[in-house]
Amino acid sequence: MQVKHINTGLYDANSYLINRKVLVDTGMNTDGLLKEIEKNTDIGDLELIILTHCHYDHTASALRISKLSGAKIAIHVNDAAYLKNDNVTASSLFGYSAPLIEPDMLLKGGDMIPIGNNEELIVIHTPGHTPGGICLYEAVSKSLFSGDTVFPGGSIGRTDFEGGSSSQLTESISKLIEIDIIVLYPGHGEVSCKSVDQQIERSLRMSRGLF
Ligand SMILES: [Zn+2]
Ligand SMILES: [Zn+2]
Repeated sequence: MQVKHINTGLYDANSYLINRKVLVDTGMNTDGLLKEIEKNTDIGDLELIILTHCHYDHTASALRISKLSGAKIAIHVNDAAYLKNDNVTASSLFGYSAPLIEPDMLLKGGDMIPIGNNEELIVIHTPGHTPGGICLYEAVSKSLFSGDTVFPGGSIGRTDFEGGSSSQLTESISKLIEIDIIVLYPGHGEVSCKSVDQQIERSLRMSRGLF
């Protein structure tokens, strides 16, 4: 799996361009993202945009990137239900209305998404930060795209937004513990490949309130 990590602003979410045709999250800086995508692929070769969850900082550029490229937009069915909700998408916190995204594909846990090179992403439903938050696992490279569920260093996603639940987040992180993960591609911060399993165990302790 070839992954290009894209981040164009301090408070913006990470985007990941996979195998030059699949984008995980879009962030908010459409022009900056476009510039980075075009360094790596023809925009028309982009086939799919997968949103790890409905928050504005991960989705704001999705509509324009989708229109420019023709890429389809995929999101978990539980977050699709809130895409037009200014509060659950946290758009109001950024001073905007929710972007009017119409998803083409509704995901659920266990779905397999082909990404080329005979590789696929497995959808893991990880509610807690949002109702339809997902992580995406690629088994050959043992990579996890964790959205805002877990971050490097044992950090965890916030659960105090509308639609959040700390007990659900703990349950979701418990699912991640069972997976062999070598590379962590988080929704914010740097990519990490140092004892990722231990980092996620710390995240689980953090979510249970044991530090
Ligand atoms: Zn975020
Ligand atoms: Zn978020």
